[in-house]
Amino acid sequence: MPSPQPVLHLRDTFGRIADDLRISVTDRCNFRCVYCMPAAGLPWLAREEVLTFEEIVRLTRILVERSGVRTIRLTGGEPLVRKGIEDLTRMIAAIDPSLDIAMTTNGILLEEKAAALRAAGLKRLNVSLDTLHSDRFKDLARRDALDRVLRGLHAARAAGFNPIKLNMVVMRGRNDDEILDFAKLARREGYEVRFIEFMPLDADGIWSMDAVVASRDIIETIDREFPLEPVADQRPAPATRFKFRDGSQGGIGVIPSVSDAFCKVCNRIRLTAEGHLRTCLFSIQEHDVKALLRGGASDTEIRDFIAAGVWQKEEGHKIGQADFVRPGKTMSQIGG
Ligand code: SAM
Ligand code: SF4
Repeated sequence: MPSPQPVLHLRDTFGRIADDLRISVTDRCNFRCVYCMPAAGLPWLAREEVLTFEEIVRLTRILVERSGVRTIRLTGGEPLVRKGIEDLTRMIAAIDPSLDIAMTTNGILLEEKAAALRAAGLKRLNVSLDTLHSDRFKDLARRDALDRVLRGLHAARAAGFNPIKLNMVVMRGRNDDEILDFAKLARREGYEVRFIEFMPLDADGIWSMDAVVASRDIIETIDREFPLEPVADQRPAPATRFKFRDGSQGGIGVIPSVSDAFCKVCNRIRLTAEGHLRTCLFSIQEHDVKALLRGGASDTEIRDFIAAGVWQKEEGHKIGQADFVRPGKTMSQIGG
């Protein structure tokens, strides 16, 4: 038997190590969230452009076994619209049962899929939910689907996902009056609600600095009503987490991606649905891994190519600075 290859971690020039891989399994989506996609949708990638399950698994195996990647997050577009997503989950879990495998989903198909995903080895679930009002949901996601998402959340709970994190993108004047309602939901249902600052990755160009509600204001709003206590994280994390001081179940997280980004300790890399490596959400260049996967490259060549890409990882995004360049892709095309 060949001896195992040594693990060479993915380092960049700022001393960070990438061990968190986010895989976009599709650029397609059944929602049209105003902060992400245009109402008419986007031109989808042709099927043959999208990585196959075998390609995704090969790449994941290389990065897990030879580069020390420990966390895999399946995302998109909407990951649950990719046919056989539970099979892909099982294939990735088989690489190493101790891998931390998570998914971010809009939740509309969870009622049908939650149990199968859990059985396939999915360990953690983030469900995006921006409002608790049906009419507003229709405006924000451009789909009338709040009830289905809520049923999906219950199905996820019944399937054994615990904790479940809710992702709420806070937009001034659109849903920032619901911050306390989401804190109450966290306490009532035991969810960890993560409030995300709106980022300039929308298709419609509605982002502006004024539309961003700063994380510290969100925390102050909640803390006044339900006093909070910080939770110390063992690993670098984009979310600053809090528990309720009165001992209630549930928790709060804020992701200050604009006002105080976690770039300095960022351990993430992304694989787009068409097989390109991105070292930052706001990258303006990508590294075409698919060309190697389909061009007969060896595992070592692929690993070295990715390591060279990570070496060039950006110091951080420059939102709000004069030299900020907006990427040409939306969040759904990158894989959030
Ligand atoms: N479709 C799935 C979903 O919505 O959960 C997964 C993909 S989505 C692109 C991943 C996450 O990015 C979601 O939580 C979504 O709310 C968030 N997101 C999308 N556009 C964003 C933006 N412009 N600013 C901040 N977060 C955004
Ligand atoms: Fe689809 Fe997720 Fe983008 Fe909403 S945020 S349009 S659900 S990819």
